Amino acid sequence: MTLLDIQHLTVDFATKHGLLTAITDVSLSIKAGETVCLVGESGSGKTVASKSIMRLIDYENGVISKGNILLDGVDLTALSQEQIRLLRGKKMAMVFQEPMAAFDPVFTIGSQIVGNIVQHKRVSKQAATQQSIQLLERVGIPEAELRMRQYPNELSGGMLQRAMIAMALSCEPELLIADEPTTAMDVTIQAQILQLLQELKAEYKMSILLITHDMGIAAQLADRIVVMYAGRVMEQASAVQLFEQPYHPYTKALLQSILTLEGSRDKRLYSIEGAIPSLAELPEGCRFHPRCSYATEQCVRFNPPLHEINGREVACWHAEELVKTEWGAQRHHL
Ligand code: SF4
Repeated sequence: MTLLDIQHLTVDFATKHGLLTAITDVSLSIKAGETVCLVGESGSGKTVASKSIMRLIDYENGVISKGNILLDGVDLTALSQEQIRLLRGKKMAMVFQEPMAAFDPVFTIGSQIVGNIVQHKRVSKQAATQQSIQLLERVGIPEAELRMRQYPNELSGGMLQRAMIAMALSCEPELLIADEPTTAMDVTIQAQILQLLQELKAEYKMSILLITHDMGIAAQLADRIVVMYAGRVMEQASAVQLFEQPYHPYTKALLQSILTLEGSRDKRLYSIEGAIPSLAELPEGCRFHPRCSYATEQCVRFNPPLHEINGREVACWHAEELVKTEWGAQRHHL
């Protein structure tokens, strides 16, 4: 069953340079219980896509100019902020890279989680307090009752990240959006948080939309992967398909960038030559063409539509021939 269905989403932002289109014609869906990873470099539009679902772009001069976002059949683009506020937390929740963004520094951790539960569920404050303590314990926070009385700045980064996950789960959302949830963490804490997310997904029977620039994390968690570049979807495929055989040159470059770096699991994507274009100066034709070693005249002039090839979707004029001729024999093993 499809839980989230984003159809042809285009989002504009009002800036001092005029209206800039951050994402164009983005379509993706998430089934119940599925983990979908949105991957790409910074500036690819993955955070804008995720914030559009929560309608957080409304607070950043963003506007959904085209498309629909259906959550369980309800079009989120047609709802008022008040209606969205009622859905946030209950049907969908978000965890961020920076946990301080999720908490108000002047209230205790406990009062914020309890407040969230009381707001969305018809339970007493006492019951909500009990649930909050259990949740903090479940996400691995020791001395949960003590932590309830502490302020956000009194918790370590890793602990606050766990508390944010507890708050996001406090109303048992069907969809959890996690935006680079482990980027600022050391490797050990990162592995623990990813493990926790996997366990909680199964326990709460949630779907997860995970935003990451780290293909290693995507390989670990994703059922399906959506690759974005300069505001467009370049490739969508099952994780197995994509890692075994990327079809889009950008996906190929992303995979190569982690495989060729020392230790083969470096988180950065700096080995792709060139830079992602600015939204104000997007190239004509295929947006990846200035960085693509396979670009032809057709690529420079015409934008390739996302189309189905062998059970996946790819936006590249030459994907099929490249896979057959240039790199078909190569396989990736993460
Ligand atoms: Fe490269 Fe052309 Fe494919 Fe774009 S359409 S990724 S420029 S080969």
